[in-house]
Amino acid sequence: MTTAHLYTFTGSEALMARARKVIPSGIYGHQSPSFLTLGSYPSFLTRGEGCRIWDVDGNEYIDFMCSYGPIVLGHRHPKVEEAVRVQQARVDCQNLPSEKWVELAELLVSITPAADWTVFAKNGSDITTWALTVARAHTGREKVIAAANAYHGTHGWCAPNPTGIPAGERALVKNFQFNDLEGLKQVVAENKGEVAAIIISPFRHDFFHDQEMPDPGFPEGVRALCDQEGIVLVLDDVRAGFRLNLGGSWEPYGVRPDLTCYSKAIANGYPLAAGLGREELRPAAESIFFTGTFWAGAVAMAAGMATINTLREEGGIEQMRAMGQRLRDGLEQQACSLGISITQSGPPAIPFLTFGNDATFEKSRVFAGEAARRGVFLHPHHNWFMMAAHTERDIDQALAVTEEAFKIVKAQFGG
Ligand code: PMP
Repeated sequence: MTTAHLYTFTGSEALMARARKVIPSGIYGHQSPSFLTLGSYPSFLTRGEGCRIWDVDGNEYIDFMCSYGPIVLGHRHPKVEEAVRVQQARVDCQNLPSEKWVELAELLVSITPAADWTVFAKNGSDITTWALTVARAHTGREKVIAAANAYHGTHGWCAPNPTGIPAGERALVKNFQFNDLEGLKQVVAENKGEVAAIIISPFRHDFFHDQEMPDPGFPEGVRALCDQEGIVLVLDDVRAGFRLNLGGSWEPYGVRPDLTCYSKAIANGYPLAAGLGREELRPAAESIFFTGTFWAGAVAMAAGMATINTLREEGGIEQMRAMGQRLRDGLEQQACSLGISITQSGPPAIPFLTFGNDATFEKSRVFAGEAARRGVFLHPHHNWFMMAAHTERDIDQALAVTEEAFKIVKAQFGG
């Protein structure tokens, strides 16, 4: 990585041309190049090690997206890779689960005060949809409430783009604004006796929006409302889980959900999701049909155990918080000395930055694009992620690049 020359992406462009011929859009979903700054990012990566990633043109980046969350310890963390190697040498996908199925469930239950049992799947969307099914089975009700614009996955009830989804699938989902407890009470009152679940992320982390931590009393208020109305409280901890608190992201508030959804960081990049629940919900969980061909895969479970144990042993949560704070302080100081108005939001381990007077995110696109062309992988409008592999040296090296990117924003847009 160097700040002296700007990266080019001819290898990515050639692969993209091939991809467009045989794959709709070439690359679709959250990894689509249309979400990044066109011409300033690679489209294909080849390799990762610690907090560094390399693209198909050989360009090196300090990674602040962590594969959109999963990489929590670092790419190819030796302890996780060793656990994977050992399990891979035995078997992964079989007729029946392996002993890892039980061992990982025991580990998750032991670290999660809110949970008495666990189920497994592969993707966050599997588990958020599962949680609503369990809540509906438990309550005998059909409606659910979610925060407006919150992301809970790609299934029909929650996909951000409704194209191709029958309206009826979404009609049972009612919305409120994150942090608006009175508004939430109102929605519950309007649907009294009909709401099975409130599904909520631990803090607001919508795309194209400053992140919002819960207001004082909000998590407690949601919990009390659920208790009063017999509604199942589902915490969608898919994005924040294992980065803020190993016991669950609302544990610091003393608020325990009925069901918790995990995926992303649970196995440092190996495909795994988990749904955790309170004893009272066990009969409902047992009453539904829930399965997937690959869900009991033992390799990802071995990776999950190694990830969680390593996070605990090596103080990964504290490291991510400290390095996220170092990044935040450095960015604040740079923007301030250049007279650029910015807002940094969310917890330090899941940072995000927006610019003042930038409703269309144009400044963000220039900033993130210029950083990418100099070897720092940020995102213009999605929150970033820290990993435990970030060191002070990495942060300082990244800050040398963001300073250049800020100067270009200043030259192009003023303050
Ligand atoms: N919930 C939240 C909060 C998420 O951030 C995501 C993924 N970005 C999901 C659910 C869906 O997870 P997946 O992409 O693994 O289906």
